[in-house]
Amino acid sequence: MRKPTRRRRSSSIRSGGAEAATLAVAAAKLGVALRHGGVDAFDRLPDDLVLAVLAALAARAGSPTDLAAAALTCRRFRDLAAHPAVLSRAAGTAVAVRAGAWSEAAHRFLRRCAAAGSLHATYFLGMVRFYCLGSWAAGAALLARAAGGGHAAALYALAVVRFNGSGGGKADKDPRAGVALCARAAWLGHVPALRELGHCLQDGYGARRDAAAGRHFLLHAAARELAAASSSARRRGPAGEQDDHGGAAAASRFMVEWWALMSAEKPAASAADGIRCGAGEDAEEELRLCSHARCGRRETRRHEFRRCSVCGSANYCSRACQALDWKRAHRGRCGAAAAAARWLAAGNAY
Ligand SMILES: [Zn+2]
Ligand SMILES: [Zn+2]
Repeated sequence: MRKPTRRRRSSSIRSGGAEAATLAVAAAKLGVALRHGGVDAFDRLPDDLVLAVLAALAARAGSPTDLAAAALTCRRFRDLAAHPAVLSRAAGTAVAVRAGAWSEAAHRFLRRCAAAGSLHATYFLGMVRFYCLGSWAAGAALLARAAGGGHAAALYALAVVRFNGSGGGKADKDPRAGVALCARAAWLGHVPALRELGHCLQDGYGARRDAAAGRHFLLHAAARELAAASSSARRRGPAGEQDDHGGAAAASRFMVEWWALMSAEKPAASAADGIRCGAGEDAEEELRLCSHARCGRRETRRHEFRRCSVCGSANYCSRACQALDWKRAHRGRCGAAAAAARWLAAGNAY
């Protein structure tokens, strides 16, 4: 449930959800009020005006529910809410479908928004198709379309795909292309891409080694993250999420929730089927999630992700995820995991 009291003090950027809710209520009241004035009054309202209100709502919606609430007001609103002029304006939060609410209708909504020209929907659907639905070609094509439109998170997502050769084999890894995509995303202000670029320059991966420039980028990324975290804390308290990097956090949240749901469903399905796994399912089991808890990417082939070189028990889709997880969680676990691995390797296990 949404807590309106928390949103009351939001800044202009983060108050999108509250504004959208207000707009949705206003749109609904508009329909009701005009109906009280008589059917003719509502019918005489020009489509352009209703479209403008709905497009503003789509651009500020805090969740897909805001747009759906307005669309459910009446048939005319429903039809106009599906107009490309409205769907093309859909913001990242407006298309941030939750994994638990995934359905053919949700898929169709994202497809329509993407077809109408919403780069946020194109990116979100691309990530869902690539990492969750296993449609690598279709997912990559959507990400490329969003990236071509200047969507920074899509540029970075493609960079991760190129670094890992995701959806292909080891031979498809292309670090130079990954660095070029990261540079474009970083130029557009995408902080994870800036961090990735810093690590690549420090390591000489995909680019000529330049430790000083790499350090400079990493410091810059850390400063940006700190500023985003402190402004987020000021706005919504310590529990507030950090800025969404153009919908990247919503896509990651979807993937994290998706795989959690899949793993919860699998044991139940196996029990119902009499627990028999074929070779293909075994291979599927070997595919690992990125160990950064907020990432949600899963390997598209075995051993695709880089491992923590110390303990070997953590796997990461990117250097940026590894660095972030080290700061947030893995630093405290790595030593113990490494000791356990050494203990097992020494043949101490039963
Ligand atoms: Zn990751
Ligand atoms: Zn480790």
